[in-house]
Amino acid sequence: MSNEKTMAVAVAEQLARLRDDYLARLPAELTGLEALASGLSGSEIDRASLDELYQRLHKLAGSGGTFGLAALSVGARSLEQRVRGWLAEPLDAVDVQARQTFAQDVAALGKTLSEANAMASATLPDKGASAPGQCIQVWLVEDDALLGQALGRQLESFNYVVRLFTRIGDAEAAAQTERPDMLLMDVMFEQEGENSTEVFTLHPNLRALSCPLLFITAQDDFQSRVRASQLGAEGYFLKPLEVPRLVNRMVQVLEKLRAPSQRVLIVDDDADLAEHYRLALLAAGMEAEILQQPAAIMEKIATFRPELVLMDMHMPDFSGPDLAGVIRQHDNWSSLPIVYLSAETDLDRQIEAMNRGADDFLTKPISDAQLVAAVRIRIERARYLDEQINRDSLTGLLKHASIKESAGIEVIRARRSGKPVTLAMLDIDHFKVVNDTYGHAVGDVVISSIAMLLRQRVRQSDIVGRYGGEEFVLVLPECGAKDAHLLLDDIRQRFAAVRFSYAQKDFTCTLSAGLACSAQHPDSNGAALLVAADEALYVAKRGGRNQVRGGQLDLKGAQP
Ligand code: GH3
Ligand code: MG
Ligand code: MG
Repeated sequence: MSNEKTMAVAVAEQLARLRDDYLARLPAELTGLEALASGLSGSEIDRASLDELYQRLHKLAGSGGTFGLAALSVGARSLEQRVRGWLAEPLDAVDVQARQTFAQDVAALGKTLSEANAMASATLPDKGASAPGQCIQVWLVEDDALLGQALGRQLESFNYVVRLFTRIGDAEAAAQTERPDMLLMDVMFEQEGENSTEVFTLHPNLRALSCPLLFITAQDDFQSRVRASQLGAEGYFLKPLEVPRLVNRMVQVLEKLRAPSQRVLIVDDDADLAEHYRLALLAAGMEAEILQQPAAIMEKIATFRPELVLMDMHMPDFSGPDLAGVIRQHDNWSSLPIVYLSAETDLDRQIEAMNRGADDFLTKPISDAQLVAAVRIRIERARYLDEQINRDSLTGLLKHASIKESAGIEVIRARRSGKPVTLAMLDIDHFKVVNDTYGHAVGDVVISSIAMLLRQRVRQSDIVGRYGGEEFVLVLPECGAKDAHLLLDDIRQRFAAVRFSYAQKDFTCTLSAGLACSAQHPDSNGAALLVAADEALYVAKRGGRNQVRGGQLDLKGAQP
């Protein structure tokens, strides 16, 4: 098992323990709440117990969802709001009947627990493609409710789960118990009704969320921009909002956070030293493995796929430059960064070694911090160059040749593993009309929007490419035709819901998609499967567009 997996398992175990502890405490908490609530049914109520009830329901509403008990959270939230209403008025105005119903509803919370439990386990992320790639929780703090709702709907088309706060205080309170993946805030919020020259600030609760922060605002002055930057904002978007640009930044920010850990191969004959480097890199969140047998270096590289090789110079059987030379004999690995890490201080010998296929030279001893920094910077640079070469600049998706290659690799892998892979070919409907009506620049926005939707909607293991102008390919490993059909149809509907605007007018676009699954084409290679997907796309176009065709569901047809 890889280190990353081991760590992920350890973290998952810790999380599971936390959840178990919570579930174990829950029955007692619910009994306590029930007792408190039934105390309200009498002729008198006191503010102190009402207050306590409010606090405890509030906490429950916040924690339930975090531990997968969504229904419990919803139930507690509604009860909490009822109590808040009572607290806002004179207590003798709360009638006995309402309090009795309330006590019954609190008692019923326990029932949602068993239902919620069943639901939580049923909604665990499954391998099927119909499960969202990831469910990204966005808190939108916007005092203009109409604008907030409209933006929320737009973001939901891009697979974000949006919670709208029209009062900043509510967001600050929620931040005590919950945490979104991203915070979108209107800058002007805090200044309302106050001195408008006052600098805006971020409540400590919101700051403590330490999630990415983006501002949406009508303020285009330098001061506000500097302030946003000081608060660590990763985006600053002016109203009226260009939603595709905003989403583009959201995707970038989140992808940066989710970037896979960097992989380093260590080649050193000193076992203790090699282990020390390995642990230092591991502690920095990287994956590091040690080459045990120099003769197996190409095998190791093929399976581990390092992004950098840390190479000793002098070893008993082979030298570092010997091994570097072997790596460079393979076209696939001609650009893999190789960095010597050696006690060799003789400059001439260093240069000579570099001439044999290496990129850099670090001298021992080196502090852990220096080693980690040197490795990290070089891998970041290598990743950047790789993106420049293999990714399309408008959409950030893989280019034609790369996606075709990925399709080929995944079809071979699928045949080996016995699990299906499905390829999907997507094409925007009547895109020429969009260009002709609104101009090429607006057409580009439509293209980049679909790219973001695809990146946002698929699983991490799925591969997305821009096959041609307004044509895209999805490679869905371990995904059968039925799941793929559901996924693509969801994408189709979401895309149709995205509103584009041009000169104050809104318009929408649709797409058609064709699928081909390796299970139905057992003898096809990647290229042949792509042709089959393209043929299915043609059927979808001929069938009236705005539909998904191909795979086993062809007989049933698709809803236009
Ligand atoms: P169909 O429903 O049959 O797919 O019709 P269509 O109009 O979408 O298809 P067609 O292939 O006739 O037109 C595709 C258009 O996409 C033509 C081309 O100018 C445009 N296009 C290709 N690449 C880009 C691009 O990068 N940006 C923009 N704005 N337009 C592009
Ligand atoms: Mg088209
Ligand atoms: Mg086309």
